Amino acid sequence: MDPVLDLAVIGAGAAGLMAAISGARAARESGRSIRVVALDGARTLGAKILVAGGGRCNVTHHAVDESAYAGSTPGAIRKVLRAFDVARTVAFFRELGVELKREETGKLFPVTDDARTVLDALLRECRRLGIEVRYPWRVGSVRAEGDRFVIESASGADPVRARRVVLATGGRSLPRSGSDGHGYAIARALGHSTTERILPALVPLVVRDGHFVRSLSGVTLPATVEVRSATGKRLAAFTNSTLCTHFGLSGPSVLDASRYYLHARLDDPGAALVINWLPGESFESIDAVLQNLGPRTVLGVLRDRLPERLARALCESAGVDPSTRGASLARGPRRALAHGVTGCVIPIDSDRGYTYAEVTAGGVPLDELDLATMESRVRPGLHLAGEICDVDGRIGGFNFQWAWAGGFVAGRGAAAPSPAG
Ligand SMILES: Cc1cc2nc3c(=O)[nH]c(=O)nc-3n(C[C@H](O)[C@H](O)[C@H](O)COP(=O)(O)OP(=O)(O)OC[C@H]3O[C@@H](n4cnc5c(N)ncnc54)[C@H](O)[C@@H]3O)c2cc1C
Repeated sequence: MDPVLDLAVIGAGAAGLMAAISGARAARESGRSIRVVALDGARTLGAKILVAGGGRCNVTHHAVDESAYAGSTPGAIRKVLRAFDVARTVAFFRELGVELKREETGKLFPVTDDARTVLDALLRECRRLGIEVRYPWRVGSVRAEGDRFVIESASGADPVRARRVVLATGGRSLPRSGSDGHGYAIARALGHSTTERILPALVPLVVRDGHFVRSLSGVTLPATVEVRSATGKRLAAFTNSTLCTHFGLSGPSVLDASRYYLHARLDDPGAALVINWLPGESFESIDAVLQNLGPRTVLGVLRDRLPERLARALCESAGVDPSTRGASLARGPRRALAHGVTGCVIPIDSDRGYTYAEVTAGGVPLDELDLATMESRVRPGLHLAGEICDVDGRIGGFNFQWAWAGGFVAGRGAAAPSPAG
């Protein structure tokens, strides 16, 4: 039988690799040597790091705080983020030889513009610290046996025994990367709960067949995407690049809005996704523009500020002939067009699912963890980190920052000497 390990990290993604590194470093700092193994079911390690940010890996964002996240309470999220902030992430990667650069959007990428640099640096640090990364080694189940954990492989390999476990199996997004939600079952078997709702987030939305948006594939423009309750209350709004596709909508604004829309719709079937194609303008301001066309055509005026294909589609949807000139634009169609431009209600059929979702909303609630160590309150010796927790962030590097911070706290917490010695 293999010796009992000090620490087994389940899942060698962003959070798991950070936990393993932080655990091994913390032990070294206190003059101890611990045996750390990271187990991952995937055939290729770090798939998500490699695909992230279009292959450039958006490692973090220059301004991270709890307001960029949803799920557990802001106070709980803040506590973990503060334990390992953006400056520490930058310093951590610099120490590993990865310089980060900040782009205009506030996103930080490696100067190489190559995600491989990030993954290679993490794996190199694991090797330096003597961490064994064992893969493909899919965990089927974990059970507590006295003061240790027995980790059973899904393929019948000999079990791994460890005094401490960090569960960092991610969520359900991009299941072919190895993150298929099995970690939730492992957490539940160890006594944790998971949120009643586990839904895709940062996910493109499928618009009802026949809607004009689907005929505008490739059109992209800055727009405000708002989630509105049936009573008209603004629940969330994001102004950013918006992309029309053959199935519906994507782009940062839509991805950010998606989790709010999908949640709202479950509580309130009348909840709507509403787009203002001219951010900053209102129904009144556009109605006034349309009333003062003078000799210009409707299309001529809209084309100045919107892609022509969209301008034409908005006219058609409002029943306005695009060549209409000032005086002949009747009140009813004019108002319909002003509504279409600034408050376009988009009928959403569904979302594109976990295959296309960048993250998962929902998971293990943070109130089941001691946030100073990410240790389970229900199963001492078990720590959790990353997307398996009930925290999802906006697009822009926030999700990795959550993984780095949680991995750091969990790894150090798990490497601390146990009270018994
Ligand atoms: C296409 C795409 C692009 C993205 N781009 C960005 C970006 O640029 N910036 C950003 O901040 N975020 C981005 N994200 C989100 C980010 O990748 C995740 O939030 C982050 O990877 C979560 O880290 P994690 O370690 O918690 O989980 P994961 O990265 O999902 O890692 C979990 C690991 O656990 C393993 N695992 C799961 N179950 C088992 C099991 N039973 N046994 C053994 N191993 C198991 C998996 O194989 C996987 O390696 C992107 C996501 C996607 C899908």
